[in-house]
Amino acid sequence: MPRLHLFFLLSAALAAQSRRVTEEEVMRVHRAALLIDTHNDVTSNTVEGLDIGKRRAEGHSDTPRFREGGMGAVFFAVYVAPQYVAGNRAANRTLQMIDTVRHDIIERYPNDYALATTADEILRARKSGRIAALLGIEGGHAIEDSPRLLRQFHALGVRYMTLTHTNTNSWADSSGDIKRADIKHHNGLTALGRDIIREMNRLGMIVDISHVSDKTFWDALEASRAPIFASHSSARALSNIPRNMTDEMIAALGKKGGVVQVNFGCEFLSQKSADSSPLNDPAVLARFNAAYANQTDMDPAVRRRRMREIVAELGAKTVRAKLSDAVAHIDHIVKIAGIGAVGIGSDFDGVGCVPEGLDDAAKMPNLTRALLERGYTAADIRRIYGENTLRLMRQVERVAATSAPTGSATR
Ligand SMILES: [Zn+2]
Repeated sequence: MPRLHLFFLLSAALAAQSRRVTEEEVMRVHRAALLIDTHNDVTSNTVEGLDIGKRRAEGHSDTPRFREGGMGAVFFAVYVAPQYVAGNRAANRTLQMIDTVRHDIIERYPNDYALATTADEILRARKSGRIAALLGIEGGHAIEDSPRLLRQFHALGVRYMTLTHTNTNSWADSSGDIKRADIKHHNGLTALGRDIIREMNRLGMIVDISHVSDKTFWDALEASRAPIFASHSSARALSNIPRNMTDEMIAALGKKGGVVQVNFGCEFLSQKSADSSPLNDPAVLARFNAAYANQTDMDPAVRRRRMREIVAELGAKTVRAKLSDAVAHIDHIVKIAGIGAVGIGSDFDGVGCVPEGLDDAAKMPNLTRALLERGYTAADIRRIYGENTLRLMRQVERVAATSAPTGSATR
């Protein structure tokens, strides 16, 4: 009996030990996979004049680093900060952000990028040696409550919309302010919210539930006829923050053909990072409030930059996540919902802290190595990196193709 026990202990130890992988194998598997990143925020920089064609020392992404990291397709965030709601400037900002993708990225570098609006167009861009550039709106307030604007943004190439950002809008609750008593909430989606999802289904726009409250997630999952996804969220079981998804949510999303695109932000991946986040450091918060208390409508991206300056100044320490934390989230989602329910939504250039080893877009082969060492096959990695998202896009396209030519929305 003790001998048998020892045998099981030994084999368990061997199984946990990582497989040896050569660099040649890593690059072969990496290049064979079509890597799709469903959330990149470099657009917050290009809209301010950044040249994406030049390698820079700071940040996480630019063309040289996309090329080095073997990026096949990028959903660029058409990010509309909550402050644009005031004075109805959200649609204007949305157009500016769409233009930075179309003009500053695709038109400026036609040999590096091709606009893609369908799964087939992603494959076509790949064949031509270019990175497929896609558009995803972040923040449902972008459409200023009008299905007409939704249709026009779709016509300009937008293929997903995150129903909310950190702000509850007039038709969907956000996880970002759900605990605030001074905000009017709806208990999930309103009737208009359901109409908007119906119209997104009809148009062929992916419903993105990153940032929404838990109740909005359940309402959206029920309302949508097509699979939905989380463009940049991770697992709450491993890092308990409102932006991550519970096991129940992950299982239900997967069952309906959805994909959880793992966010690389340290706080999303590691509880230690979340707990040590400067956003929770009283000294940092006090300094921030003293300096910027009067700027209540500060863009969250600017706010993050200012916070980072104060963090550096005070020498406050955030515990960095590790490459193995990203692998642990992938493992967890696979365990809960299967290999078909996981993808990559890095949030590069949208988060301040990324894991050691995944320092920027150029480091993506490190994840391939870690997954191979963990026992994932080349076929598994192809699914995680792109095939799951392509399959979801085709399902969304099919629902649109089989919808009635005009929607029920009359506004
Ligand atoms: Zn976001």
